[in-house]
Amino acid sequence: MEIRTASRPHCPICSKPGSLLYKDLEDYLFNAPGKWNLKQCANPECGLCWLDPVTIESDLQYLYKNYYTHAENHSHLGFQAKARSFLLSCYEFAKLMPSSVLGLTQARRQILHMFLEDLPTGQVLDVGCGSGEFLHRMHQLGWSVTGVDFGGAAIANAKAKYGFELLHSDLIGAHFQDNSFDAITMHHVIEHVPEPVALLSEAKRVLKPGGRLVVTTPNIQSVGHSLFQDCWRGLEPPRHLQIFSLNSLGNCARQAFFKKVEMKSSAANADAVIGASFGIRQAREQRTHSRAAYEINMLRALRCCIIQYREALLLRKGLNCGEEAVLICHK
Ligand SMILES: [Zn+2]
Repeated sequence: MEIRTASRPHCPICSKPGSLLYKDLEDYLFNAPGKWNLKQCANPECGLCWLDPVTIESDLQYLYKNYYTHAENHSHLGFQAKARSFLLSCYEFAKLMPSSVLGLTQARRQILHMFLEDLPTGQVLDVGCGSGEFLHRMHQLGWSVTGVDFGGAAIANAKAKYGFELLHSDLIGAHFQDNSFDAITMHHVIEHVPEPVALLSEAKRVLKPGGRLVVTTPNIQSVGHSLFQDCWRGLEPPRHLQIFSLNSLGNCARQAFFKKVEMKSSAANADAVIGASFGIRQAREQRTHSRAAYEINMLRALRCCIIQYREALLLRKGLNCGEEAVLICHK
C-alpha cells in the first residue's frame, strides 16, 4: 500500500530550517515500505534530526504492521544455536566485573527503574507501556501503576499477564485528570509521536506539582551514530519521526514549561543498539530482510562489548555520547 506523507521543512522543536543528512533510507528492521530522507536542524543550539517528508498521522499505524513480530522462539533451537547461546551466556557472566567498574551495572539499574529509585513510592504512569514489564517491576517496589499504549495486542497481553488497569490509547486520548501522577515515564516513545511538545505539555498537565517526568530516546550525538551513520539502530526510519540531541530534548521540555530540566546520556543498552546496527549494516549490504543478519555471534558480541566499554569511558570523561538520551524534569 502507498503510505501518505506530508512535507516537514522546519524543525519541529525550534522551527529553523534543516539540511539533508541522509537520503533514501529504508526500513531493514521491520520492512515498512518507502524510502525516507532525514534532515538535521541548522541551529547549532538544537541539532534535532527529523523525517521530511513524514507519514501523515492517520497512516502511522501502517508503519507498525511487522513491528516486533519476528521474536525468535528459543525452544526450537538446534544444537549449534544452543551451543552458541551457552557461550554467549558465559561471555555475559565474564562481563559482570568490568561492567560494574565502568558504571554500566548502575546505568542498567537506573534505566530499568527509569530514574525513579530515589523517589518515595506513589502513582506512576508509563506512556507506551508495551509488554508492561516496567510497570510490573515498579508495582513490586510498591508503586501504584497505570499504563497507556496505542498497541492493542500489547495492552491485551500485559493486562492478561499482570492484571493491571491499562488503557489502549495515546496519552492525550486518555483524558487523565489534572495533577494525577507522582511520576510519568516514556521509554523510547517521544521519537514516535508527530508532536513531541504537545506530548510533554499533556504530561505536565497530568503530573502532580513537584512530580517527575523521565524520558529516554535515541541520542543522535551517540558513539553508535558516529560509527554506523545511516545504519545506526536509533534512526529506525520511518517510525522515528525525530531523533533528539540532548539540547533539543531539553528545549522540548522547556517549551512544555517544565522546570529543573536535566539531560544526560546512558550507555546502559549500548551493546544491544550496536549489535542491531551491525545487523542493519549487514542487511543493507546483502539487500536482505532476513533476521539472520541480526544474529549475534561471538565476534560480533565482542565488538559490541568493546564499543560499549569505550562509550562508558567517554561518558565518565563527561562527554554526552551514550546511545540513549535521558531527560529528567519536574513540574
Ligand atoms: Zn531545531
